Amino acid sequence: MTDDGDEEVPDIPVVCTACDTRTAVPFPEVEETVARHNERLHDGEAVAEVDPAVMDQLADFVAEDLGLLE
Ligand SMILES: [Zn+2]
Repeated sequence: MTDDGDEEVPDIPVVCTACDTRTAVPFPEVEETVARHNERLHDGEAVAEVDPAVMDQLADFVAEDLGLLE
């Protein structure tokens, strides 16, 4: 059995500068969590977001997943 974790996506840090919070959210829930937070606390403004540093890695991951990298 292999268990190297290659296929696993780590929790994604979501930061909100207005609330000064940083929360780790499982990848499948990131979009909803961010949307809900902004809706509830910021009148729907896109204040909370995925940590930009992680966004880069995530883009790589997604690109790899979609086979966009050569
Ligand atoms: Zn907030």
